[in-house]
Amino acid sequence: MTTLPRFTVHRAQTVEEASDLLDRFGDDAVVLCGGTELLLVYHFGFADYPDLVDIKDIEELRGIAVDGDQLRIGATVTHREIERSPIVMEHFPALAAMERHVGNIRVRNQGTIGGNLCFADPHSDPATFLIAAGGAVTVRRGGADARRIPIESFVRGPFETALEPGELLVAVHVPRPRPGTAFVHRKMSFHERPAITVAAHVAVAGGRVAEARLAVGSVGVAPVRAAAAEEHLAGLDAARPDPSALAAAGVAAAEASSPVADSNGSIEYKRHLVGVLTGRVVDEAIAAARGA
Ligand SMILES: Cc1cc2nc3c(=O)[nH]c(=O)nc-3n(C[C@H](O)[C@H](O)[C@H](O)COP(=O)(O)OP(=O)(O)OC[C@H]3O[C@@H](n4cnc5c(N)ncnc54)[C@H](O)[C@@H]3O)c2cc1C
Repeated sequence: MTTLPRFTVHRAQTVEEASDLLDRFGDDAVVLCGGTELLLVYHFGFADYPDLVDIKDIEELRGIAVDGDQLRIGATVTHREIERSPIVMEHFPALAAMERHVGNIRVRNQGTIGGNLCFADPHSDPATFLIAAGGAVTVRRGGADARRIPIESFVRGPFETALEPGELLVAVHVPRPRPGTAFVHRKMSFHERPAITVAAHVAVAGGRVAEARLAVGSVGVAPVRAAAAEEHLAGLDAARPDPSALAAAGVAAAEASSPVADSNGSIEYKRHLVGVLTGRVVDEAIAAARGA
């Protein structure tokens, strides 16, 4: 049996207190939220910070609310809370559906949306989803103004984010889908975490694809928006989307996602997966937007 290294948990009540603690303990300290990633890292001996700054009591980091045309989701909200939230189910059911397939029930009960994004594991459902949805995060350190950062700029690479020292992710903001739009998120997993995630946000007007936002994740070092793939979708006949345009979008998405070889497969295999899954996701999203 592995013994965890000794550590002290400091419970912060405000962002100011958390930043003070992080400043005071410096390189010895790390933020603790649900602990599903952090305690695994300790368990495998990859980290042994003696001071953990627990942020779960901080009111500013809690809650799910409608904020104008957006949803605001506090950083410490768990996957399970999002999945079951009546507000999310009413205003963005695709977000609840995506959360329902994150990990397993234990991970969803304990793990948070903020912890998922801050850990920046490349195999993330919410990061891919939120890029396609045009989401952003608010980050703040005590005593300073909040910074708002689009998700694609926040997640910089494997286990790397735009957070500055002493800063916390405070909330996630996601625009509510407009009428006539549909959102589809799909993944494939061979192990615990997704091997590929594809999300598409499609708007149909006058029987044609008026707008498409596409994101691909989990195959490369970070999730990306596949802007070149979106260009193949603009103007498509929504009743009979041209299969060659969907295939071209898949090729462009595979190019944008820059797959890396790992235990989920070779670069060539992942490019193929991205192509196939992108075509299916987009086809499904166009059909759903047509009926929306
Ligand atoms: C078995 C298993 C299966 C999984 N399957 C999936 C899956 O299918 N899809 C998927 O997307 N994810 C999956 N995950 C990842 C899961 O979503 C994350 O583990 C979880 O969301 C992390 O949240 P947490 O609160 O536990 O983070 P913690 O472990 O508490 O923290 C993670 C990291 O983020 C930092 N941090 C946390 N919150 C903040 C904040 N507000 N501000 C600044 N820094 C912060 C911590 O310092 C730490 O470095 C899986 C994980 C496991 C263990």
